[in-house]
Amino acid sequence: MISGGRVLNGWLVSDVHGGGRVTASSSPEETSGAVPGYGDLVESSPDALLVVAEDGAILAVNAAAERMFGYARGELVGSDHRLLLAEGYRNGLQRLFFNLRRDALADAGTDAGETDTAPVEAYGLRRDGTEFPGEVAGSIFVSGEGTASMIAAVRDTSHRPENEDSLREAMSLLSATLESTADGILVVSSEGEIAGVNNQFLTMWGIPREMLATGDDEAVIGFVLDQLRDPAQFIEKVEALYADPMAESHDVLEFRNGRTFERYSRPQKVADQVVGRVWSFRDVTAAKVAQDRIARAMEDLAAQSAQLTALAFQDGLTGLSNRQLFNDRLGSALAGPAGTAVDVLLLDLDDFKEVNDILGHHAGDQMLIEVGRRLRTCVRPDDVVARLGGDEFVVLLVNSVEPEAVAARIVDSLRVPVWIDGTMLRPSLSLGLASIGGADRDSEGTDAATDTDADSVHASELLRRADVAMYAAKTAGKNRYMRFRPEMMKALVDRNDLEAGLRLAVDNGQIAVHYQPIVSPGRGTVTQVEALARWVREGAIVPPQQFIPAAERSGLIVEIGTEVLLRGGTELKPWLDEDSSRSLAVNVSGVQLQHGDFAELVLAVTESCGVDPHQLILEVTESVFFEDDCHVIQQLMSLRTAGVRVALDDFGTGFSSLGRLQGLPVDTLKIDQSFVSMIHTGTEQLPILNAMIGMAHGLGLTVTAEGVETAAQAGYLMNLDCDSLQGYLFSAPQPETALQPALDKAARAIAALRGARVPGSR
Ligand code: C2E
Ligand code: CA
Ligand code: CA
Repeated sequence: MISGGRVLNGWLVSDVHGGGRVTASSSPEETSGAVPGYGDLVESSPDALLVVAEDGAILAVNAAAERMFGYARGELVGSDHRLLLAEGYRNGLQRLFFNLRRDALADAGTDAGETDTAPVEAYGLRRDGTEFPGEVAGSIFVSGEGTASMIAAVRDTSHRPENEDSLREAMSLLSATLESTADGILVVSSEGEIAGVNNQFLTMWGIPREMLATGDDEAVIGFVLDQLRDPAQFIEKVEALYADPMAESHDVLEFRNGRTFERYSRPQKVADQVVGRVWSFRDVTAAKVAQDRIARAMEDLAAQSAQLTALAFQDGLTGLSNRQLFNDRLGSALAGPAGTAVDVLLLDLDDFKEVNDILGHHAGDQMLIEVGRRLRTCVRPDDVVARLGGDEFVVLLVNSVEPEAVAARIVDSLRVPVWIDGTMLRPSLSLGLASIGGADRDSEGTDAATDTDADSVHASELLRRADVAMYAAKTAGKNRYMRFRPEMMKALVDRNDLEAGLRLAVDNGQIAVHYQPIVSPGRGTVTQVEALARWVREGAIVPPQQFIPAAERSGLIVEIGTEVLLRGGTELKPWLDEDSSRSLAVNVSGVQLQHGDFAELVLAVTESCGVDPHQLILEVTESVFFEDDCHVIQQLMSLRTAGVRVALDDFGTGFSSLGRLQGLPVDTLKIDQSFVSMIHTGTEQLPILNAMIGMAHGLGLTVTAEGVETAAQAGYLMNLDCDSLQGYLFSAPQPETALQPALDKAARAIAALRGARVPGSR
């Protein structure tokens, strides 16, 4: 052995300091004895050995080199070593040489692990041009003169199993693939042990690496199961698959925290032998959430569109059909076969505005809902009941044999009182009925002989007729139904005429004022006079019940009211001046109170007549206090501050309530004539009158009874300490020209009553 030699990269090299050299002899002849000498050793080496000089020239070769490359030794020595390397590998040895020399010059002893001096793989090139895979290991040899050469040992590696490389390649590809996939992968052996996982698996399941390192598979399984919403199902699936090793499966795992994994499992086979099972998990939470969201959005959309379609034909408040659906159905009914009987029942609640004003819109809505419900009970399920808006409803009957009976039923349906928020209401309605067609009906069932031909009547015409009939029902006293008759059209025309005529009358100063005395039983004299508007049209008196509503509708009431006040103040001025305790009463409509400058106007007018505001009484109805805005109350309060008194007119009608009296800015209660007319003999018990008068007095109000026509009524009211009496018994309203006789008559009447009255009697 070479003493002082050392191992460089597994090759034995002689000590460079001894000027030693590789003792490979250049010829086999030098071999002698049973133990091969160094020359023999080199020569008989199975690896090809080459000594390469720094410039790349081959200095020496052994026999294996000759065999391996197919060259004679003489041909190789002196040639460039690159001759033996295949294209693409030609510089490999030079690089190795450089690296080896660098290390040898530094301190070769510490560099055993350097990879750039490791054997290199290269393809050799034989003399015959064929190539072969080989591995070249090199070591450095430095001569005493310092020249370095490399000893290269070349081994043909064609014998190595060819797939080793590709296997390694495949493995690295596989692991790179496994690690880069978004799926978590778990491989479990047939024995149930975890054979492998990728990082993604650990991340997805949140399994700490240390837990896996312990090899405690049960801990890992427990960790996994804890996260699932249905661990039993998970286990069941695993067990089923282990019972059937060849099976593949695909399912979904729901997590307790809302995540969703897809689980895919297939057997792991080695040469057709199942050795385990590969589980792959994919986090589909985001996809699922998106999918669910889409599904929900689609559902919402479907529901919305259904709702929209329904809403398009439905009345939002009552759930009944709306005007559009009614029009559609009416149109199709009229376009139906000849002789189809079509009835339109148009109805409107009586005095609905008062419910809204007094009880509020919520109560109004409740009332409409209840009316809608009752209407439905009066008709067949297929009949259309629609709300046209406000308190207006319409019923469409097609081929009904009893439209009148239905109309009667509808009017009757409100006989049962309606309870809203603890208040009992007795609403009523007015209904107009208009019909067309119905060949089998007798003449009473058709509107007018004028047109039995359905084609000639359009939907709008039928509705108009129903409207006219309804208006007639209202005019005839409400709470009833009326069938359309052509002469009703005239009433409608008259109504329009009325408004036009009223405007002219106001403009031309044709509104007159009549005066009605009001007496005080206590003082035995006339203490007030009520001014009442009169319209004499072409020689005939138009009743205020007709023109006052028309004036309110058109706004003319403001001018009329001012005119009445002005005339009243002017014409009564002398009477008022005689006694400062006398007063003038004028009626004020809610429409007037809506005007912001009402109080100013009243005070300005009284001042212009020279009347003291303390001598003025404004009569308002209860409903003015229930308008939404509170400036009505403010107006009345400022008027009262100026000395004007306020009387609550028509008390007891509509939706009056004694309970609501408290706190209202009023001084007097005027009990409506309908209560007074309940007194016939004067001996009956009428607790309601007692209560009203008692309550008003309790609240510090004075009481006036309206419409007193008989001495019995007067006597009854006087016994209840009613403060004032008004009515034909004393005097009917009279024009200014007849004022004095009226005042005298009234004074006489009350004086007579006082004289006839037995004190303390009832
Ligand atoms: P009102 O304010 O309740 O007036 C009393 C009504 O009862 C008057 O009817 C009067 O003529 C009538 N009357 C008086 N005594 C008797 C009686 O013993 N028996 C009967 N059956 N009736 C009696 P008129 O003048 O037809 O007025 C009707 C309504 O028109 C008034 O009722 C009032 O609400 C309204 N009105 C009249 N003039 C005006 C006005 O200038 N402005 C406003 N806003 N409304 C007015
Ligand atoms: Ca009045
Ligand atoms: Ca009245």
